[in-house]
Amino acid sequence: MKINQNFSNLAENYLFSTVGAKVSAYQKAHPESKVIKLSIGDVTRPLAPAVIEAMHRAVDDLSHAERFKGYGPDRYCYGYDALIDSIKSSYAKKGVALSSDEIFISDGAKSDLGNILDLFSADNTVLVPDPVYPVYVDTNVMAGRRILFANADEQNGFLPMPDKKVKADIIYICSPNNPTGAAYNREQLKAWVDYAIASDALILYDAAYEYFIQDPDLPRSVFEIEGARDCAVEICSYSKTAGFTGVRCGYTVVPNTLKREGFSLSRLWARRQSTKFNGASYIAQMGAAAVFTEEGEKEIAANIDYYRGNARRIAACLDSLGIWYTGGKNSPYLWMKCPRGMNSWEFFDYLLENANVVGTPGSGFGKNGEGFFRLTAFGTHENTEEACQRMRELLK
Ligand code: PLP
Repeated sequence: MKINQNFSNLAENYLFSTVGAKVSAYQKAHPESKVIKLSIGDVTRPLAPAVIEAMHRAVDDLSHAERFKGYGPDRYCYGYDALIDSIKSSYAKKGVALSSDEIFISDGAKSDLGNILDLFSADNTVLVPDPVYPVYVDTNVMAGRRILFANADEQNGFLPMPDKKVKADIIYICSPNNPTGAAYNREQLKAWVDYAIASDALILYDAAYEYFIQDPDLPRSVFEIEGARDCAVEICSYSKTAGFTGVRCGYTVVPNTLKREGFSLSRLWARRQSTKFNGASYIAQMGAAAVFTEEGEKEIAANIDYYRGNARRIAACLDSLGIWYTGGKNSPYLWMKCPRGMNSWEFFDYLLENANVVGTPGSGFGKNGEGFFRLTAFGTHENTEEACQRMRELLK
């Protein structure tokens, strides 16, 4: 028996463990300190009442023989009609018409981002942005694919554009982006779609943060862009939209028009999912189906507004200090340039020791993250306000 040797090519990811260890050591040495974390990458608001009610009803269904549900429906890879219909109607509001067999329900975006690679040969070259959500890199390292990086930096506002000289087969785009919070506009996304079509490449479009988009001119789905149905798959999640990080539900859209080498990608994905996956739980799916109801949307909007309030506080703080940053307006992430020429970890230590505020060093997301720092809007208003006051005082 032989091990997949590609695992030995994975870089150790020390980022969050080092952040955690440094914070614990600081708190141990300074038990009186009140450390505030602007590094939280998980949601903190409770689920919307409409979701909770729907999940309670689903549990009741499971407790009655006549309403009991086992495996999900075979049709549409175990996605229940109520959920698929609600996703279709949410896309219709963006001007995108989908058919039910183009929507695949999952237990979240991370699984689909990794699993969809089953469809593609290991010979493909992959293009990922730098800095990057590490899952795009590690899943391809595990499969032994060649990885190229598209440089995101201060000059391009951390929104790299296609380079015709670069030939890639699979292109990752995450907009609004984690970690940078930057979001592509229509023209920029169109340029990526045109590039993908011209080079017969496939875009894997991660829309996990689309609900944070406030600017009505920004696209919330890649399928709002002409041509995308022929070159893109969109991976979506209820995690940040509706606080489902612990519940687990997401969906991936694979258009029926998307074909490569004579294969329909939606049929391949259906085959892959029905072979290796048995669906997201009924309870999670019923909760998710309540998200895009009138009531559910109002309630999740209130939660997202809560986080937006924090993003506005942090943005106002950075503005008042004259610090360059991306994100914050259409994203829960703010990506700031470290002040006074510090590198990412120097600034981490400086902020922890002098303001008792924690963020995430940008260098942990790729070489272009060096000298940058990620702050998040997932804390409480009170803590975020206090952290901002401390930063104002320290960095003025
Ligand atoms: N994509 C991005 C860019 C993320 O930041 C995350 C989670 O942090 C995910 C996907 C994973 O989402 P899920 O909870 O649906 O697996």
